[in-house]
Amino acid sequence: MIPIAKPFINRSEADAASRAVLSGWVSQGPQVAAFEAEFANFVGAAHACAVSNCTTALHLALLGVGVSPGDEVITVSHSFIATANTIRQCGATPVFVDIERDGYNIDPAAIAAAMTPVTRAILVVHQMGMPCDMPAILKLAGAHGLPVIEDAACAAGSELRMRNAWLRIGRPLGDVVCFSFHPRKVITTGEGGMLTTNRVELDAGFRLARQHGMSVSDAVRHNSPQVVIESYPVTGFNYRMTDIQASIGREQLKRLPGIVSRRRTLAERYSTRLALLPGVSAPVEPRWARSNWQSYCVRLSDGIDQLDVMQAMLDRGVATRRGIMNAHQEAAYADIVTPPLPRSEAARDHSILLPLYAQMTDEEQDKVLSALEETLALVRRRGAQSA
Ligand SMILES: *Cc1c(COP(=O)(O)O)cnc(C)c1O
Repeated sequence: MIPIAKPFINRSEADAASRAVLSGWVSQGPQVAAFEAEFANFVGAAHACAVSNCTTALHLALLGVGVSPGDEVITVSHSFIATANTIRQCGATPVFVDIERDGYNIDPAAIAAAMTPVTRAILVVHQMGMPCDMPAILKLAGAHGLPVIEDAACAAGSELRMRNAWLRIGRPLGDVVCFSFHPRKVITTGEGGMLTTNRVELDAGFRLARQHGMSVSDAVRHNSPQVVIESYPVTGFNYRMTDIQASIGREQLKRLPGIVSRRRTLAERYSTRLALLPGVSAPVEPRWARSNWQSYCVRLSDGIDQLDVMQAMLDRGVATRRGIMNAHQEAAYADIVTPPLPRSEAARDHSILLPLYAQMTDEEQDKVLSALEETLALVRRRGAQSA
């Protein structure tokens, strides 16, 4: 059976976790601080703040830029539901706009039309690791004085060409960038998240909010030769990452360039082979983007049934997933009046994700391609018979 994804973790992560446990300090402490410094340095951000997952990162980011009850935040419906949920966690309303014609990211042209007097922020998603058209988004946001948050849950290691240089996603182009270290992403800490920003006051706010609004961390108090009495200037949360997770994250970060390089080779191999296969089209990477290919999403031609393809692939020992979900089509968002989002809806219903992971061998990938070729021939034959 070929799975859809596989975390790339082994002995070095296990040893690092073991060292953290044996150190006697397992909650947020020196490993978290070191992981933050290394992550900030890797992406080129002034500050990085580790949290429990990307959902809590997005919540703190939205609160940080001032999103409050009654506000609207422009975002995509075509994303994992956490993107929309975090807007509601602030008491605000997500305003869903459609995706681009040739990809799965927000359509900058749709943002302007969605603005109202209560628009408070723009939350864009680098979907499946593919960078958004940030210059267009930043221009619009700048013209309206709106903060931009990047949901980079899937985009660790992806790059964007801007200002005549390749920049890593995480170098804050807008205000805050949020990452996930869930095992379905490119690097993992089991569960985990990170916020990067260049704005020191935002970073300070994240640090306060993630640990109960407490002015001094327990690690600082523990190591202080003087008695330290903490204070609680704001109402906070417990959104901390543990030192066990951070020690794993530090090992994962070392592997990230190698993981992305292998994923890009595999994606290129898929795209070359799929160009010859009728019934399916490969994803498009703009020339200004270098995706980490967190997911490799292919579009099925009209008349080819998504579920039939997924079942036939599973019958041949290959796991697939349907395209990215749309929040506005779920019961949880039925109360929000959303205009039709034809591209988002078509993307969900006519795309499938193919297996892709750094340890995948060329032989495994060939098996996926053969299964897909057989499947498409089978589904087309069935379609011709029923027509
Ligand atoms: C996975 C994901 C999230 C949530 O990340 P967690 O770390 O699981 O909370 C948010 N947004 C997007 C786009 C995602 O893919």
